[in-house]
Amino acid sequence: IIEVKNLAKEFDGNPVLKDITEQVNPGQVIVVIGPSGSGKSTFLRCLNLLETPTSGQVAFDGQDLTTLDTKRVNELREQMGMVFQGFNLFPNMSVLENIKLAPMKVKGVSDADATKRAHELLQQVNLDDHADAFPSSLSGGQKQRVAIARALAMDPKVMLFDEPTSALDPEMVGEVLNVMQDLATQGMTMVVVTHEMGFAKSVADRIWFMADGYIQENSTPDDFFAHPQTERAQDFLSKIL
Ligand code: ATP
Ligand code: MG
Repeated sequence: IIEVKNLAKEFDGNPVLKDITEQVNPGQVIVVIGPSGSGKSTFLRCLNLLETPTSGQVAFDGQDLTTLDTKRVNELREQMGMVFQGFNLFPNMSVLENIKLAPMKVKGVSDADATKRAHELLQQVNLDDHADAFPSSLSGGQKQRVAIARALAMDPKVMLFDEPTSALDPEMVGEVLNVMQDLATQGMTMVVVTHEMGFAKSVADRIWFMADGYIQENSTPDDFFAHPQTERAQDFLSKIL
């Protein structure tokens, strides 16, 4: 569903992604791990063209995004939900309004249908009792679950997560990971940048280990954690496990 070919990205002549060729298949959960500054966020942002690649191709559903005009890129980007470390909820809107906004504005969904769907999604993330709350009254874990529900409201084909739990207090990490695990079980295609190795081990279909501008290893979690092939990965794991 996503095909990346010879992707490279530099900032001011400084290469961050050097040559990445990988693909994400429907229903797969890819967990991207790697040292800080190795380009994980840049890579994720290249997948939906929030960053423009310096060279290479990024195809979504068979269409190379790097060749399309902005309007078409925006249309395809709607099918890729993204959840960041920060929650980016609209502070002046209730939880329900946050979730309804994009479907109504962008897709022309009716108020009644958007409301119904928003409640379903809030049930899915265990927050339906907070539909009328404002973001400022929610905990970090609750905000992040709203952010996930909001992304899902656009019925994306793929969900991209960039360290969705790293800004959370430890006791709230689990509730967000549980929601993500449920999504994976339901068959959502996901690319997840995370430092949560428990999640990586139990939920990922593939681990992509990124360092020095390349995906150095593309393995099953069992193989990656038990037998990392590269010195770079062995070194990384020795520091975090
Ligand atoms: P972390 O684990 O800390 O989130 P990361 O693997 O996500 O790191 P990136 O944020 O992708 O790494 O950054 C990779 C490199 O690219 C860093 O050296 C960073 O300074 C640089 N970089 C990222 N975005 C920009 C930008 N907009 N302009 C210039 N340099 C950038
Ligand atoms: Mg990052």
